[in-house]
Amino acid sequence: MEIVYGPVSSWRLGRSLGVDLICQEKGKVCSLDCIYCSLGKTTELTTKRRIFVPTERVALELREVMKEVEADVVTFSGTGEPTLALNLGEAIKVAKEVSGLPIAVLTNSSLMNWEDVRRDLAQADIVIGELDAPNEEIFKRINRPHKGIHLAYTIEGMKKFREEFKGKFSLEAMFVPENKDFSKEIAAIARTIKPDEVQINTPLRQSPVRPLTPEELGEIEKDFKGMNACSVYEAKKAEVKKVVGLKKLKQLKRPKARKVGS
Ligand code: SF4
Repeated sequence: MEIVYGPVSSWRLGRSLGVDLICQEKGKVCSLDCIYCSLGKTTELTTKRRIFVPTERVALELREVMKEVEADVVTFSGTGEPTLALNLGEAIKVAKEVSGLPIAVLTNSSLMNWEDVRRDLAQADIVIGELDAPNEEIFKRINRPHKGIHLAYTIEGMKKFREEFKGKFSLEAMFVPENKDFSKEIAAIARTIKPDEVQINTPLRQSPVRPLTPEELGEIEKDFKGMNACSVYEAKKAEVKKVVGLKKLKQLKRPKARKVGS
């Protein structure tokens, strides 16, 4: 099973070497089941944290891969929600030591209200959280959460994390036809979270949902005026030469070289 993959050309992070701490051969383990997820349906919808991959295996694989590839950042992402991995904090520390690179985590933010999750995430240099809905109804419709997850707690968790975290906290808002008319409300919530940056995205990777057009996303961006906001259509792509983990890249529906960003 491949834990380390890429680097991929990420529109937000440059050449991003992925670490998959969840490592499912098929399907994914997540606290949400977003309608736009490129991995398809969540096969295990859970909020229970556990160890999926031992930290020593991450260190071993990363050490080998670092001899072969050039990357700008190591990013914890992959086949599910990284904060479900109980050894996330430890794995981030090890990845930092082994790679000497900044560490990023892509999270759906749903467990950020938990102190142990915030403590683990605090080991990273960059954390990218998620906010796609203005209220519980749309949250249920788009993100289809585990029954223990609520939007209000998710937002509360992000606010707490923002106050405590010394690194860069970005907020991604994924826009699809189902939430495109709520961008003003989502922007208002984003303002209360006070992220360093807002990343306005739409699913350009293979997805069951149609992406919004550059014009539609351009209109949405206007609602984030005054915030440090960037859109996926405006982003530059970093050039990637050599990659590892081809099976995982295929599973994640990631291109093997430049093209579409993270
Ligand atoms: S949070 Fe991410 S991995 Fe989980 S269902 Fe949503 S898009 Fe997929």
